[in-house]
Amino acid sequence: MNSQQSTVAVIGAGMAGLSCAAALSAAGLSVVVYEKSRGVGGRMSTRRGEGWQCDHGAPSFSATDARFGAEVRRWLKDGSVTRLQHDGDGEDAVYVGSPKMNAPLRSIGSSLNIRTRQRVTGIATGTNGWRLTTDADLVADHSEIIAAIPPAQASPLLAAAAPTLAQLAGEVSMDPAWVVMAQFQHGSGQRLVAPSLIGGSIARVVHDANKPGRDGLDCWLLIADSRWSQAHLEADADWVCAQLVGDFRRAGAPRPSSSVAHRWRYALASSPLRQGCRWDAQSRIGLCGDWLADGTVEGAWLSGQALAERILASSPH
Ligand SMILES: Cc1cc2nc3c(=O)[nH]c(=O)nc-3n(C[C@H](O)[C@H](O)[C@H](O)COP(=O)(O)OP(=O)(O)OC[C@H]3O[C@@H](n4cnc5c(N)ncnc54)[C@H](O)[C@@H]3O)c2cc1C
Repeated sequence: MNSQQSTVAVIGAGMAGLSCAAALSAAGLSVVVYEKSRGVGGRMSTRRGEGWQCDHGAPSFSATDARFGAEVRRWLKDGSVTRLQHDGDGEDAVYVGSPKMNAPLRSIGSSLNIRTRQRVTGIATGTNGWRLTTDADLVADHSEIIAAIPPAQASPLLAAAAPTLAQLAGEVSMDPAWVVMAQFQHGSGQRLVAPSLIGGSIARVVHDANKPGRDGLDCWLLIADSRWSQAHLEADADWVCAQLVGDFRRAGAPRPSSSVAHRWRYALASSPLRQGCRWDAQSRIGLCGDWLADGTVEGAWLSGQALAERILASSPH
């Protein structure tokens, strides 16, 4: 068992968690980020296969807020983000991570203390406020806890330590999304008819290989309709693949050389709270994430910033 003394714990290395951690760290606070996966990104992530890669969560994002716009300009400068050529500047611009979707998060996280493969499983009263435990037997005391994770995961985790926040999270639901990554020999997928003609199981298609800096096979991301995904949430992944590829082919696509499905159990906040963040100054536990904002990458970043501001304003540090 490891033991460690620290101050702020951020649970989740997605856009919201890293935005918050970076702002607190820049203000001089000691921060440790805990992430259950192998790397940073959360729903801004990329799947790799034999000869292909595909951003299988958020395929792109926009920037309408001036502060987020300034952050995006920093990412454009350090090369971690590219503006898609066919879209304009300003609020209409669409951005992608380069060479993959989590690149801006790697940029933010490069100066942070991030503990990956650490799923936080418990939060109990500790000597310095809270005692956090992970599934890798790590135990650490923290004065502040930030849960930057989807509401269905935040609610049980905070049930004992912050019941009011847990209840709030318990009232917010996230829509699931099945996605299929379909690979074609180069150029063959281009024969596809207008994506707007796609219906049935598919809500949205993205030509992933068309993004700047993507190598390998011609890969398309098929995002299933949220009601369809809900109805088939426990379906077999191969069956889901066959359904989405079938609808894609009916819209004019050729037969893919390979395809694989991924289920996002908590993909999109259909009714986000639009509150920015939640901070309980008494327990010193806070919540941030896209579901407290507008359900987007931009909202997640803004939520992290908003929570950092609340913590700094009430900070005894
Ligand atoms: C298919 C799909 C399409 C999308 N399309 C768009 C789009 O076009 N535009 C847009 O702006 N947004 C889009 N989104 C939404 C966007 O991805 C999210 O709004 C944003 O990435 C959320 O960031 P977050 O930090 O709030 O949460 P997340 O990215 O979910 O980060 C939470 C992190 O917490 C970790 N975690 C969870 N529980 C624990 C635990 N107990 N211990 C440690 N770590 C834990 C997770 O592994 C994850 O890394 C899409 C999402 C999906 C899935």
